[in-house]
Amino acid sequence: MSSDASPDPRPTPSRSSEPLRASTLAVTAGRPAKVPDAPLNEPITMASTYVAGGDVEYGRYGNPTWSALEEALGALEGGRCLTFASGLAAVATVLDLVGQGAKVVAPRHSYTGTMGQLADLEARGRLRTQLVDVTDTAAVVEACADAALVWLESPTNPALELADIATITAAAHEAGAYVVVDNTFATPLLQKPLEDEVDLVVHSATKFLAGHSDVLMGAVCTRDDDLYAVLKGRRDLIGAVPGPFEAWLTLRGLRTLHLRVERSQANAQELVTRLREHPALSEVRYPGFGGIISIVLAEGAMAADLLVRKTGLWVHATSLGGVESTFERRRRWKVEPATIPDGLVRLSVGVEDVEDLWADLRRALDDLVL
Ligand SMILES: *Cc1c(COP(=O)(O)O)cnc(C)c1O
Repeated sequence: MSSDASPDPRPTPSRSSEPLRASTLAVTAGRPAKVPDAPLNEPITMASTYVAGGDVEYGRYGNPTWSALEEALGALEGGRCLTFASGLAAVATVLDLVGQGAKVVAPRHSYTGTMGQLADLEARGRLRTQLVDVTDTAAVVEACADAALVWLESPTNPALELADIATITAAAHEAGAYVVVDNTFATPLLQKPLEDEVDLVVHSATKFLAGHSDVLMGAVCTRDDDLYAVLKGRRDLIGAVPGPFEAWLTLRGLRTLHLRVERSQANAQELVTRLREHPALSEVRYPGFGGIISIVLAEGAMAADLLVRKTGLWVHATSLGGVESTFERRRRWKVEPATIPDGLVRLSVGVEDVEDLWADLRRALDDLVL
């Protein structure tokens, strides 16, 4: 009786009839069977080949360490999960589903790597892309009309814009298009797109899910068994599979996801309040949840470049979602669109003490004003 209400095809066994909450799933899902002397954690299985006659056979088709991670992340998103060698390997495998010449709608401020793949596919005549402002729901809905796939990122990276996922998904489905949400920034703890009928959720598990800035990993989650089978077939064929050690590290990180996200978000909310008062900044962007803040330096790019050199705790580095606080002027990357302010610095707030983070940041910001 316990599992009937759950959309997860492989729910974590629960003795009560209530579905388990996210924090409990993060800790318990994807564990080995509880039999005497079994390890509590799924071990790292290093195997390129398996004894013939089973379901897996070869290391490109499956691995018990991936399966444990996929079970845990699938339970959190409320669907089935496939892991990939990186977030962009997952993105590429999903975009590969789009038919020859078909149209993809995507946010104009999508992750730069996703934009790069779309531009490359378009240049080679594989598909057409229509870029939209995701905050303009009416425009996105209109763009859905002749689309095969609607790609959403919410919040966007690094503009931190939010999309109306439920409304856009309903319109896209009406038009016969699939909807994908890149849920990297929100994580399944703050946003569960599959509950809004979204077809596919994509993750750069490199970021908050793994959470320690030491591994590259991607994932796709879905409730659609046919899509799952097609994507599994593409992964088997293309071979963008994760390493067993990376899968193990990501699962180890996932066990504390709720604690890290909670602390990072609490730190971010406190910092936003204080940053909004600082005269060196012309803008503080924060979607109201999560651990990412974008600030715009009033004096532009040069002030931003100075800021990232003046701190002790905050590390100037790309990427995000680790336990340590990092920040970066995004336009230092030539591929970042010109609609992102030149002086925008994206902050990835870690789990340190917020007073230490603020003291370090305020000292550097004060220096820019005096
Ligand atoms: C980093 C990132 C990706 C790409 O993931 P990798 O693991 O770096 O390949 C995709 N989407 C978003 C939103 C990201 O931040």
